[in-house]
Amino acid sequence: MKIDLEAERKEILNRYKILIQACKRRLEKGDKEIIRKAFEVAVEAHKEMRRKSGEPYIYHPIAVAQICAEEIGLGATGIVCALLHDTVEDTEITLDDVTGLFGEKVAQIINGLTKISGVIDNTSSIQAENFRKVLLTMSEDIRVILIKLADRLHNMRTLEHMKREKQMKIASETLFLYAPLAHRLGLNNIKTELEDLGLKYTNSEGYYDIAVKLQETEPQRKRFVQKFIEPLKEILGEQGFTFKIFGRPKSIFSIYNKTKTKGVAFEEIYDLFAIRIVIDTPLEQEKSDCWKVYSIITDFYHPSPERLRDWISTPKSNGYESLHTTVMGPEGKWVEVQIRTVRMDELAEKGYAAHWKYKDSAADKESNLEGWLQRIREMLENPDPNALEFMDDFKLNLFSDELFAFTPKGDMKTLPVGATALDFAFEIHTKVGEQCIGAKVNFKLVPLSYEIKSGDQIEILTSNKQTPKEDWLGYVITAKAKSKIKSSLKEQRKKIAEEGREIMERKFYKNKLDFTLQNVNDFCQFLKIPSSQELFYRAALGNVDIKEIKEFVRFKNNPLKPSRKTVTPKIEQLVTNARGSSDMLVIGDDMQKLDYKLSPCCNPIPGDDVFGFITVGEGIKIHRVNCPNAIKLLSNYAYRVVKAKWLNDQMISFLAGIKIIGTDELGLVNNITKIISNENNINMRSIKFDTDDGLFEGTIMIYVHDTKHLNHLMDILKKVKGVTKVERIDEKA
Ligand code: MN
Repeated sequence: MKIDLEAERKEILNRYKILIQACKRRLEKGDKEIIRKAFEVAVEAHKEMRRKSGEPYIYHPIAVAQICAEEIGLGATGIVCALLHDTVEDTEITLDDVTGLFGEKVAQIINGLTKISGVIDNTSSIQAENFRKVLLTMSEDIRVILIKLADRLHNMRTLEHMKREKQMKIASETLFLYAPLAHRLGLNNIKTELEDLGLKYTNSEGYYDIAVKLQETEPQRKRFVQKFIEPLKEILGEQGFTFKIFGRPKSIFSIYNKTKTKGVAFEEIYDLFAIRIVIDTPLEQEKSDCWKVYSIITDFYHPSPERLRDWISTPKSNGYESLHTTVMGPEGKWVEVQIRTVRMDELAEKGYAAHWKYKDSAADKESNLEGWLQRIREMLENPDPNALEFMDDFKLNLFSDELFAFTPKGDMKTLPVGATALDFAFEIHTKVGEQCIGAKVNFKLVPLSYEIKSGDQIEILTSNKQTPKEDWLGYVITAKAKSKIKSSLKEQRKKIAEEGREIMERKFYKNKLDFTLQNVNDFCQFLKIPSSQELFYRAALGNVDIKEIKEFVRFKNNPLKPSRKTVTPKIEQLVTNARGSSDMLVIGDDMQKLDYKLSPCCNPIPGDDVFGFITVGEGIKIHRVNCPNAIKLLSNYAYRVVKAKWLNDQMISFLAGIKIIGTDELGLVNNITKIISNENNINMRSIKFDTDDGLFEGTIMIYVHDTKHLNHLMDILKKVKGVTKVERIDEKA
């Protein structure tokens, strides 16, 4: 294909003009010139480069800048940085050049962006470490992460040009890291789009299934929304409100999740959309006007008492403000209604970036953001940063929803949902946590493991005889409590080990063994105990047998005798052997040669898209790429993932499960079993039927050869009279 360079040049300029249009409102004197300069530098730097799609590379930084301007609302510095974000990493331009041309601040942000991408593009590194890096950089300047999110969004929008493996990896990482980050920063639009795109590439079947159904049902939904809002429009107008009212569909990702977590079908989800009312009202009247609207709506439609959410009096920690209620609409359908002001709406869609626009009014929210960044810094300073555990804690603490609880004096503490009384104790003070023996919640005595509910008032009971116990780790979920308990346990262990050391010394002496470092270490190795401290600890608890010492003495005197050690082949070695020269693991043949198992979490069978995962003690496990655990595995342990494919011409059978739902027709069970047993080459392993009030549900576990074989059988079963649904199930029955 011949490239028309002149046409491309025009298109680049055209896109630039659209960008300037988008940020015009926010620009101050001199801003346009500096953006123009950044644009020219970027065009020149990327001029020889093209994207995977074949387009000029510069389209990408322009698009990222466009997102920053339009969807995040960044100012000139942010736009300049977005235009330059890939220059230092991918072109001749150095950080010094950037400093010289655009100053210290821009260079600092570009440096942050370069650091993040340098880490993330390295496929062999651990995701958790990346995460830490991202957050560390973020706490320097929030714009780094905002631009990074825009960069990721554009890459997700153009992901179709990448190879399948790359798509999987980038999409998994997006779901695991970037979408939660966008959520935490209150960038709702970006979060939703990242999630939808993430789902599209990690599970396209699930994605399109819902997308198509949403489209098919749209006219029907529109009619309903119309019917619902018509009378409200009239009354709100009469009352003198300036407002917008409309239906807003839920995202594909959130619908998909609902079908998965609640096990309901698409057709059964009642809140596929919400009604949103956005009123234009001065700041000082916001709260009372929103409640006025609430009162008007609930005069008209009956509200569900349990489903009122007031995030105006207490905004979410990501800044979200809104009043939600669920009312009984026409046709006996529950409908969620969201009431908010123009300001709140903009904050909800654009997050913290929009706060800058409302700076005066939102001073307290600025400090909220500051507080959040402070918590990140605290967590990053955790002295024992086992990277992975750190991330789990982190996600739990900062991305989950929060609850509020009060001290007896009425001080409010914010904790993640799921936090316990013990977490609360550590939140107050480390000493209070360590000596906690129980708590009174709303004046009632509760155990340490009590799960706090929002609004609880909690009094912690302490005793100076109390010390942290091993099982406490199971009661707490905050990173703070966990790390404090761990370090206290470590302290205790150390003390116990010191006593054990004396015991060990006596035992050695009795067996005429010198208590030398060498002997102690050899003995540890002999028992396969990781450290001498661990040995002493066990000795103190009476867990080192005198027989073991005697055996060790014998072994020492005659080391040629085979010891207790056995050689276990390294799994990595086995993988290398099995792969041969290709980098693809072929499964399905020669089961003995390679230690692999089909993972019970998703029961893969030949024909499924699969990958291998190297486990710690159980060889390689084969998972389906749409396995519920796949995202976590792929993004956290990319280095342990092995590409895998099935060998075609084999006749091994694999276990698969089918669920059949229908009406309780006479002879239905008989018909089904007959079909299965008449079918060639299928063996049933188990079959289970339940009938309940005319409804019928059956679970059948069968051995099949591949997906073709299984689908064929499912098609036949669907045709049986009385059967309404046949689906494959993942769990072993
Ligand atoms: Mn980029």
